[in-house]
Amino acid sequence: MAYTGGYAIERDDEAPTHPVRLTDQFKRAYATVGGAEVERYTDGRTDEPFWRCTGCGRTGAPGFGWDEKAHEQANAHAGECRAKGRG
Ligand SMILES: [Zn+2]
Repeated sequence: MAYTGGYAIERDDEAPTHPVRLTDQFKRAYATVGGAEVERYTDGRTDEPFWRCTGCGRTGAPGFGWDEKAHEQANAHAGECRAKGRG
C-alpha cells in the first residue's frame, strides 16, 4: 500500500474484544431470603459498580473494574440477608 499521509495506523486497545450486554449493566437484581432485593448500580459518572440492598440498606463497592465481583457480592448478600424489603 502506498504512503498516504503523515500518520500511522495504530492499534486500538480500547476496542471491545467481546460483546457487551448493556442492558445487563444496569439491571441484575438478586432476591434475598428475607424478600428484599439486592441491586447493582453505577454512579453514572465513573461506572464503578456497587450493590445496594433494599432490605437493610447495606452497600458494597468492590472497586473499579470489578463488575463481576459486584455480582458475586450482591448474590452472597442476598443469600444471608434476612431484612424484609421496604414497600
Ligand atoms: Zn440486606
